[in-house]
Amino acid sequence: MINVPTGKKRVVIVGCGFGGLKLARKLRYSGFQVVIVDKRNYHQFQPLFYQVATAGLEPSAISFPLRKIFQHYKDYFIRIAEVTNIDTDKQQLWTTKGTIQYDYLVLTQGAVNSFFGIKNMESLSKPMKSVSEALDLRNTLLQNFEDALAVTNEEDQEGFLNLVVVGGGATGMEVSGALADMRKYVLGKDYPELNQDKIHIYLIEGTNRLLPALSEKSAVKAKGFLEKLRVEVLLNSQVRNYDGKFIETSDGKKIRTNLVIWTAGITGARIEGLRDKSYGKGNRILVDRFNIVKGYSNIFALGDNAMMDEPRFPNGHPQVAPVAIQQASHLAKNLERTIKDEEMIPFSYKDKGTMATIGRNLAIVELPNFQFYGTFAWFVWMFVHLMSIVGIRNRFLILINWFWNYVTYDTSLRLILKPKGC
Ligand SMILES: Cc1cc2nc3c(=O)[nH]c(=O)nc-3n(C[C@H](O)[C@H](O)[C@H](O)COP(=O)(O)OP(=O)(O)OC[C@H]3O[C@@H](n4cnc5c(N)ncnc54)[C@H](O)[C@@H]3O)c2cc1C
Repeated sequence: MINVPTGKKRVVIVGCGFGGLKLARKLRYSGFQVVIVDKRNYHQFQPLFYQVATAGLEPSAISFPLRKIFQHYKDYFIRIAEVTNIDTDKQQLWTTKGTIQYDYLVLTQGAVNSFFGIKNMESLSKPMKSVSEALDLRNTLLQNFEDALAVTNEEDQEGFLNLVVVGGGATGMEVSGALADMRKYVLGKDYPELNQDKIHIYLIEGTNRLLPALSEKSAVKAKGFLEKLRVEVLLNSQVRNYDGKFIETSDGKKIRTNLVIWTAGITGARIEGLRDKSYGKGNRILVDRFNIVKGYSNIFALGDNAMMDEPRFPNGHPQVAPVAIQQASHLAKNLERTIKDEEMIPFSYKDKGTMATIGRNLAIVELPNFQFYGTFAWFVWMFVHLMSIVGIRNRFLILINWFWNYVTYDTSLRLILKPKGC
């Protein structure tokens, strides 16, 4: 058993991402003992992974040590371990470091990559669902340009210079745009020997439009912005196979590439122990309007791994940070109500809008009643993301980096950092 002092009623939070962090903060004066279990010792800001992957930001600018965040919280305990199983009868969690008892359990372990069963995609493509994966992508990308210089054969060089992004959602679009900016402003200076016209960026999307979560008008705008940056957008094109050298699509395209960036799908991160009927589509845990997992009374789930239907969202909420954050704030209040023997209040999601950036001076902001695009949208996007970052030091780091990149048209973080021995 993992050593945690016994005492007040204990809330165990699995995962300290957007949802877990907000919940833990909100419970500070609730009277509960709070135990946070996360497999990582830091919180990560996923919306800016693509900037780490394209050498725009250092990983430390978007990652925050959990112990620092909770230094001054009383009766809070952090355990760095992976939760593998739940014993709902014994109210116990199994982790890689031992077991933990809970009175209330909140599952907020997010989602993992889904490769839709496409052959070899999991082992050969580069996803971007953690800081480590973003860093791995940065290493591969930069190493590819180095290797492109070393080969003499045109075809081999083509493999290194064709960059393929799969998935036309916000992440796929952002990473494609960042690669295009990199090609435009940086690669010519760093690799003058490479013919920049030979660097191709493809964005492959299976449906007939980009940005499925946004309006048709924004999708058309986004496509236009990407094409302006010379990203080759392939719609209605589903990936069938990738063998490490060629990617093949349903419409018969075969592109030679050594780098496929996978942003196409996610599925709920499953922890064994709940009944099968507690799961819905995409491995998401079915919860009611109080975030209580169906079939249980003291187990809750929220954020990316939860599926709650409310009248306006019959297929569940979008898997985005504001949903996790709002559900977490709401659940904190409901948990406090339970110890006061008050009734819980049902959750309603307030959609304040969506935004995505494509590149320098190019972004899309879609508010409930109107949309705007371009430079002003880009500044709004930067401001909102900056304000969402945990920690003043990190905000400054990011602001300085962005300012520097903006005025110099350059990023200065193009290091290939590999594990010891490489
Ligand atoms: C590249 C990328 C870009 C994105 N951009 C945006 C954006 O611009 N705007 C937006 O709103 N949303 C964006 N999202 C989505 C957003 O990040 C998620 O919706 C949000 O993180 C969900 O929060 P969460 O708390 O449910 O899960 P997460 O934030 O994913 O947190 C899950 C936590 O659980 C931990 N964990 C997982 N499994 C276990 C386990 N078994 N044991 C212990 N700990 C575990 C993880 O280490 C992590 O800390 C993006 C996502 C990605 C991947």
